[in-house]
Amino acid sequence: MSVLIKGGRVVTAADDYVGDIFVEDERISLIGESLDVQADRVIDASGKYVLPGLVDPHTHLDMPFGGTVTIDDVESGQTSAAFGGTTCHVDFIIQPPGQTFAAALEEWRSKANGKQVIDMGYHMAVTDLKDGGTLEELATLPDQGITSYKLFMAYKGALMVDDETLFRTMQVAAETGALVMVHAENGDAIDVLVKEALGAGHTEPKYHALTRPPETEGEATNRAIQLAHVAGSPLYVVHVSCRESVEPIERARDAGWNVHGETCTQYFFVDYSFLERPDFEGAKWVYTPPPRPKENQDVLWNAVRTDTLSVISTDHCAFLWDGQKTMGRDDFSKIPNGGPGLENRLHMIHEFGVRAGRITLNRMVELLCTNPAKLFGLYPRKGTIAVGSDADIVVFDPARKYTISASTHHSKSDYNLFEGTQVTGTPEVVLLRGIVLVENDELVAEPGIGQFVRRAKFGAELKPERASVA
Ligand SMILES: [Zn+2]
Repeated sequence: MSVLIKGGRVVTAADDYVGDIFVEDERISLIGESLDVQADRVIDASGKYVLPGLVDPHTHLDMPFGGTVTIDDVESGQTSAAFGGTTCHVDFIIQPPGQTFAAALEEWRSKANGKQVIDMGYHMAVTDLKDGGTLEELATLPDQGITSYKLFMAYKGALMVDDETLFRTMQVAAETGALVMVHAENGDAIDVLVKEALGAGHTEPKYHALTRPPETEGEATNRAIQLAHVAGSPLYVVHVSCRESVEPIERARDAGWNVHGETCTQYFFVDYSFLERPDFEGAKWVYTPPPRPKENQDVLWNAVRTDTLSVISTDHCAFLWDGQKTMGRDDFSKIPNGGPGLENRLHMIHEFGVRAGRITLNRMVELLCTNPAKLFGLYPRKGTIAVGSDADIVVFDPARKYTISASTHHSKSDYNLFEGTQVTGTPEVVLLRGIVLVENDELVAEPGIGQFVRRAKFGAELKPERASVA
């Protein structure tokens, strides 16, 4: 199957030109000003942007959490991703305490088999390390294409690890070429604040934010940075939400340390006041870190503009408001933490980042596609448009108006974080390895076409060869 994408404005992190792209055997084989080639399928992209498929390095599909399971499984979550132009994501395997990583990997692979709509990889979330067992096993994961370790410094009594486990994982990463990812919040202090709030009868959703002050994020971010520096491992701080954690990342990067940071779409748009909405509606925005005071939004736009933060992800972790979020009606600490977002990252960042003049089109591609691909061992197979790269391509109509709504989104969640937001610009055709996934607002490919991708180690390139697909 060959595809010719004609006359589009091709935008990568570095380039911006009008040209044709020829796709053969799932990869881009030719790029030119005006290609004279026969193709099985021709897509007219004149007046449209031709972007690399988006890479989302932070999602949670089919994950048990907070006494329930996220509402999007691999099929619904990846379908939602595809409609938003995301063609590859990296999901989190959570090691069940006491279990081996091999068992956890097998369990997660079985949840995805036959359901995959886009390509994917996994991070391994470490919850429990034991000498003579999982500590040694951890070192074997990068050779299996799982080249990042995630640690939760929060969620005491559930996913949280102590500093010994954090530091020993960093030491392993320094040896194996894995990237260490941290959820940076001081879980011990937060646990005290939550108990005090509940003891005082404070049960509403807003106490989710009031018991997780920005300083607890800043402290943990700085602690992780210092420990990673001692261990000699690269560090990636997920979902940075506030000035208190932007600043230590900025200092470390200025000093030349191997530290990288990510924020998520919602932190630019949702502030603390959303949690105060009446009738338990605030629970829709209970995710962690929580929505922050509004002044942090400018801090984050500056941080992504200046490369203090290098990636915008979604942290898609979807629940129903009615039936799941409502488990915490009488106790904010029982509200499952997380929200949907996989489908609307490009809509929101294009509208309020590019169209509003905060970032350039090239920088948008870098933040949503290229940097996540580079940091997580997917580049240059993913994250750019180049000869030899996978033909993961979004034909984006920059003029078409689109209204974001739970009534039309493809997540199974019954609400949308950005409900009613009107944007100009939406994906028109989405291709995965040259196969049309989405066209005319329909999913036209069958689940099962997505593949598991063995990622390269930190700093290494993923060469565009079939052998790297399992
Ligand atoms: Zn997350």
